[in-house]
Amino acid sequence: MIKIEHLSKTYGNFAVLKDVNAEIKKGEVISIIGPSGTGKSTFLRCLNLLETPSSGDIYIDGENIFPKKVKTSRIRLKMGMVFQSFNLFEHLSVLDNITLGPVKLLKKTKTDAEKKAIELLQVVGLAEKMNAYPNELSGGQKQRVAIARCLAMEPEIILFDEPTSALDPTMVSEVLGVIRRLAKEGMTMVIVTHEMRFARDISTRVFYMDEGIVYEEGTPEQIFNHPEKEKTKAFINRIRSFSYHIGNARFDLYQMNAEIESFCEKHFLGYQQRHDILLILEETLMRCFNGDHMDCRGKAIETWGGIDLVLSYSEKNATIEIQLSTGAGAASFLQNTGQEDDLSLLIIQGLTENIEERTEDGKLYLNMILRNGKNNQ
Ligand code: ADP
Repeated sequence: MIKIEHLSKTYGNFAVLKDVNAEIKKGEVISIIGPSGTGKSTFLRCLNLLETPSSGDIYIDGENIFPKKVKTSRIRLKMGMVFQSFNLFEHLSVLDNITLGPVKLLKKTKTDAEKKAIELLQVVGLAEKMNAYPNELSGGQKQRVAIARCLAMEPEIILFDEPTSALDPTMVSEVLGVIRRLAKEGMTMVIVTHEMRFARDISTRVFYMDEGIVYEEGTPEQIFNHPEKEKTKAFINRIRSFSYHIGNARFDLYQMNAEIESFCEKHFLGYQQRHDILLILEETLMRCFNGDHMDCRGKAIETWGGIDLVLSYSEKNATIEIQLSTGAGAASFLQNTGQEDDLSLLIIQGLTENIEERTEDGKLYLNMILRNGKNNQ
């Protein structure tokens, strides 16, 4: 359906895309993943000529749309695009936002366009909002309207540019749910996303972009479980884990918790798991930093360079591991607090199925596996 050969895009002296080669077949769902700034959005925008490529060829159904100057409006009729920022017309109702394109560009009658729009609003779960204006909708609802508007143009392929990045975490899943449905119905889609779990579930193929090229591509199983190339491996390991450095007892607990929550959202961890992780950390860190009798220990942690937290999620085993580490000379993380009834230790033990403390390479590690690791959202 689409074939891209030696595509490059340069801004000034900066080559964002160097030599992109790819093929997308009808019915495929391609997720594009990779670090920020590696040209994923640029690649998508070059595909429907929102950006003019610097060189290369893009074939659509065998026709070279670049450099040969075909009418870009014709290309865009084949390819719908859903943006991060929705781009709805604020002064038009939901229905009018959706019917505008079909009436103006597809020359449909207003009645036909409205009939179709209502059908599509049902598909995205927003039939009752057809007379609402965008400012009356949540971000997730706006994005679903944007998807309906895109579908109203009857595209052969839809390009999604980080469709959930601008949304509150609570609204991500309603939008992903709609995209999932389209995938099931066989829509050809290319999706730039940071939602890895989603990319893994929904895609027929995953493109990992780095260094201005499609650095590695494969099935979700290949890319997420058995990446072959060095940078893909490093990226996959990084996104599966969350790191945070706690310098001293005055660290910003709220910021750390917010970042942990966001990591959990990305990996679709349930409420219970998030709650358990935060509680385990609070209890463990309190043992290190809090209470009069712990003062000397808090200072000791500072002397040992603080504490490094690594939270990692193994999709394969659906286990969540919490690792704390500090200098090897520090006392045990779980040392007795001197209280008879050591409630915090009981809490930690209750929420973990395995706790192991060890010294290795000049560091003291505490590894805990969450008891309730299975995805329960
Ligand atoms: P990604 O989607 O992978 O995060 P982008 O495609 O958005 O990456 O951007 C890749 C790089 O190109 C970034 O460094 C960005 O600053 C640069 N870039 C994108 N658009 C423009 C532009 N219109 N002018 C100059 N630089 C740009």
